Amino acid sequence: MTWIMWLATAASLVGTVGVNRKRPWGQAVWMATNVVWIACYTALGIWPSAALFCAYFFLAAYGFAKWLAEEKRPDVPTGNRGTDAPCLHERFILESPRVLRCAQCGRFFEIGSGGARSTARTD
Ligand SMILES: [Zn+2]
Repeated sequence: MTWIMWLATAASLVGTVGVNRKRPWGQAVWMATNVVWIACYTALGIWPSAALFCAYFFLAAYGFAKWLAEEKRPDVPTGNRGTDAPCLHERFILESPRVLRCAQCGRFFEIGSGGARSTARTD
């Protein structure tokens, strides 16, 4: 049991780093370790900790589902997400309150992301 818990400890830390960096894999690793912790604490009869990690798991699942839903929103094409380098064009069309589209190359930029901030400040 001990080595599983050490492994889960290491994986939990890796997952937390990923979550802090807002990486989806971090959420996935964290959720996987929650399941391991729930199993360990249940086997050991440490019910408060088992309950705590159950709560962590459902909170992480909720956050992950919400993130996926945002990622699939039609007004923000996923292919252009995470594009930090803005295009060098100057004309942008406001596609939605948070998304700009370049009139020349057609690339999308989310307002508030690195790209839109540096090319077309709206504030
Ligand atoms: Zn462009």
